[in-house]
Amino acid sequence: MKREILLHGIGVSPGIAIGEIFIYQRFLPTYKERELTEEQIPLEIARFNNAIKETEAELKLLKEEIRREMGSDLAELISVQLSLLYDPDLYEATVKYIETKRRNAEYAFSEVLKKYLVPLNEAKTLYFKERIADIMDVSSRVLRNILGIELPSIYEISPGSIIVAHELLPSEAALLDKERVAGVATEVGGKTSHTAIMARAKEVPAVIGIEGLIKKITNIVPKSSKTSLKAVVDGQRGILILSPSEKRLDFYRNEISRIAKQKIYLNSLKSEEAVTKDGKHIDISANIEFVAEAHSAISYGAQGIGLFRTEYLLLARHRPVTEDEQTEIYSEVARVMKPYPVIIRTFDLGGDKILPGYEEPNPYLGWRAIRLCLDNPELFLFQIKAILRASVNGNLKIMLPMISDLKELKRAKEFIEQAKRELKEKSVPFDENIEVGIMVETPSCALLAERFAVECNFFSIGSNDLTQYTLAVDRDNMRVASLYNNLHPAVLNLIKNTINAGHQHGIWVGLCGEFASDPYGIIILVGMQIDELSMIPSVIPLAKKIIRGIDYEFAQELSNEILKMSTAEEVTNYINHRLTHTYPELMKFLTELEAQNYSRNNNKF
Ligand code: PEP
Ligand code: MG
Repeated sequence: MKREILLHGIGVSPGIAIGEIFIYQRFLPTYKERELTEEQIPLEIARFNNAIKETEAELKLLKEEIRREMGSDLAELISVQLSLLYDPDLYEATVKYIETKRRNAEYAFSEVLKKYLVPLNEAKTLYFKERIADIMDVSSRVLRNILGIELPSIYEISPGSIIVAHELLPSEAALLDKERVAGVATEVGGKTSHTAIMARAKEVPAVIGIEGLIKKITNIVPKSSKTSLKAVVDGQRGILILSPSEKRLDFYRNEISRIAKQKIYLNSLKSEEAVTKDGKHIDISANIEFVAEAHSAISYGAQGIGLFRTEYLLLARHRPVTEDEQTEIYSEVARVMKPYPVIIRTFDLGGDKILPGYEEPNPYLGWRAIRLCLDNPELFLFQIKAILRASVNGNLKIMLPMISDLKELKRAKEFIEQAKRELKEKSVPFDENIEVGIMVETPSCALLAERFAVECNFFSIGSNDLTQYTLAVDRDNMRVASLYNNLHPAVLNLIKNTINAGHQHGIWVGLCGEFASDPYGIIILVGMQIDELSMIPSVIPLAKKIIRGIDYEFAQELSNEILKMSTAEEVTNYINHRLTHTYPELMKFLTELEAQNYSRNNNKF
């Protein structure tokens, strides 16, 4: 009987999963080198071609499955792998290797692949790492088909598995199949990393940042062994339990049924209004990355899309996404959400999503988001024209990310005017009065918010980045994760300043960072007179429950008090105290529902 082992990490996607561990490593199967005779060469080339064709058929099937279930934008991630199959540097080079060096197909392919990967391995950016993941994934399929062996891919694991990996890249997380993947645990990653955001959007419980995880597992169950290992992923508390005891399993089975009941209760609130006991209404919208999530937003009771992160449209492809493709995708979301608004954020590239050839020592402070778009007029104009063209299909708004200087906003608006002129010249219809807003996510923008407010139609506060830039804490760096706290009074004062500035100039102010999913964040923001909160769809019923359970007057008074405080701990303790006394029932509910409270206290058990 194995002893249970409890490992701590960061809970980034709530929920509990009990399942068998599947270790995901981007490795290739082993093979032997064989020298060929002259007559064997055509046979070996045929063997290689067959494997390529089989792989192509598998990928096409997978792509179709994904397209049906999750939409054409996500299926595009598989197109990248399909295009790699016939990449001349891999395909033709392998055929040539077999012919000239007279070596067996698996050996030839692997040797060519090694060479192909050298420049990518030397690159340090996530974009290249993602390409390596795609190449390794497709290559292991090819090798498996040459060798005729089973090698489970991340997309084909048995239902109920818990994926354990050193890291999951956003493209891999995007394709996680909820029907098969019960939970995820990784060694690296941060709370607001895009992989964490993806796991939450898919409602797959996830704990990340567990140091030395794979080694610990292979110490219990060696790789060669066929024995399976049971585990529990507790996304609320940020723990992974290997070989859980019967007592522990009983506890978690009860937890699962308790959470399921809560979910049913919360879901009964989804069509309710988000209005406080004393009548203050807040707009609740959803954050999405993919078209398919718009349906989920509606089903959870969202009254709009507050943030459509569009950069995945670019990262998913090997080639630029065309204006027509974008128009189609934005139109699809606009139609699903009509008459509700859809805020399309222009490409937020850079940070952890870097294009090839643009690696930087300090990417979050570098050529990111609006900075990169303004320097790439074609890319930016294509996107703006696509949004404008799609605007006839619903209620679309344009949102510009990472504005830190007024010049950027003014220049971006000039581009928007140019795009409008170009469309008019071609008599292409669009919404002439489309609103243009900005994300307030840099301290400079939050501090000078009143000067930005006169230049745009709305603000949406990006609390993830605003916290990172205000506290000088990398949002993806585990070592400093304990310093990353939305409740820091410096962050809260900037948020309040932004809301006040917006209102003084008659524009509405929303917040679309993870803070809008935090129960305490929701209460504080309501008190600060936020107009809109945007969050992952599954949190919407909880947000409604909280808003309906408090008084606006109480929230206002609470917000005023915490703005005077000096530390995040003081703020937390004060809210704990006030809620316990004023709304004991709600506090009890929230304590029980630590499930949704993953952004605080997630390491205690
Ligand atoms: C934010 O920074 O709060 C935000 C919503 O944008 P992203 O997480 O995509 O940077
Ligand atoms: Mg941001």
